[in-house]
Amino acid sequence: MQCGAAVRLWDPSRVPKHKVCGEFLTPEIRPVLERLNLWDAFLAQEPARMERMRLVFGNRSANNRFAEPAYGLSRYRLDALLRGEAEARGAQVIAERVPGTVDITAHGRQFAAPGKDRLFGFKAHFRGPVSDAVELYFFDGFYVGVNPIEGGLTNVCGIGPEEGLRRHGFDYDALVNSNRPLSDRLRPLQRELNWLSTGPLLYQTRLQYPPLDTFLAGDALQFVDPFTGTGMAIAIWSGSLAGKAAAEGLPKDDYYTQIRSGVEKQYRWCGRLRSALSMSFAPNLASYIPAHWLYSITRPKIESR
Ligand SMILES: Cc1cc2nc3c(=O)[nH]c(=O)nc-3n(C[C@H](O)[C@H](O)[C@H](O)COP(=O)(O)OP(=O)(O)OC[C@H]3O[C@@H](n4cnc5c(N)ncnc54)[C@H](O)[C@@H]3O)c2cc1C
Repeated sequence: MQCGAAVRLWDPSRVPKHKVCGEFLTPEIRPVLERLNLWDAFLAQEPARMERMRLVFGNRSANNRFAEPAYGLSRYRLDALLRGEAEARGAQVIAERVPGTVDITAHGRQFAAPGKDRLFGFKAHFRGPVSDAVELYFFDGFYVGVNPIEGGLTNVCGIGPEEGLRRHGFDYDALVNSNRPLSDRLRPLQRELNWLSTGPLLYQTRLQYPPLDTFLAGDALQFVDPFTGTGMAIAIWSGSLAGKAAAEGLPKDDYYTQIRSGVEKQYRWCGRLRSALSMSFAPNLASYIPAHWLYSITRPKIESR
């Protein structure tokens, strides 16, 4: 709309709603939202601010202080903000898809086919003392993130193998309490939202290559392990680039070149780290790797675009 094109939005599901997501936004979100004139509206939602990161592997932990703050905002609030702003700027939300008019496809990630070693994600909100850190607890093939969001709430969100979930009878409270450091961390908190789950998750090792008739954006481009907390920033960034390219009639190749230079390297590292983390010795090894290095190699280059 800012580029002068009429915009129609179609999504078959209800927006906003609670979604399985860590709701953690890395500092890259700021320039992405500033370029869209959305930064003040974002701050008006009173997102939680985080100054540091803590990775916990059994009895060991690694800490890193962010150079700039990271943020926590529920998907319910963020998705409502984005939808509301799009409509306020003239986008028309349509109830029926109009055949043959899709320029931008942002349908999110693909689901995995049935098979072994399937991964599922889960999340709930808790109330209680709030910290200024994003924490990740690694155990038994799972990792669980704990970070503040708006309104004094804490998001608890994890990913792990179906087999491990089965061992706990798909009881997420039992699962998070099975790890001593995580159970200690959550003890002063009370759960406020029923656990939500999603999956099976399919990690993709390559960027999806351009279909001729559409610009792919967000997870439709590639879904990588979300522990880097950049999925939402990349989705908003790529969606805005796709919108501009579609409105200006730019060749799709030019768009995908920008996408590749922004995220391809980061996605490759995420894939490598995900493979490494699935090995049994990895958590011990990872506790010796500086957290700031792990953080820096997984940063997308999306600020200056
Ligand atoms: C467990 C978990 C934790 C995560 N934690 C974080 C985190 O802390 N920080 C972070 O930045 N990222 C996180 N992510 C990743 C983040 O959720 C995604 O990267 C982000 O939501 C991608 O946005 P998107 O718009 O591409 O897709 P989505 O948010 O999935 O939205 C896709 C939309 O498309 C709609 N849709 C589906 N099919 C169609 C269709 N055929 N036509 C039209 N519409 C369709 C869906 O209804 C949906 O509303 C996490 C993901 C998971 C699974």
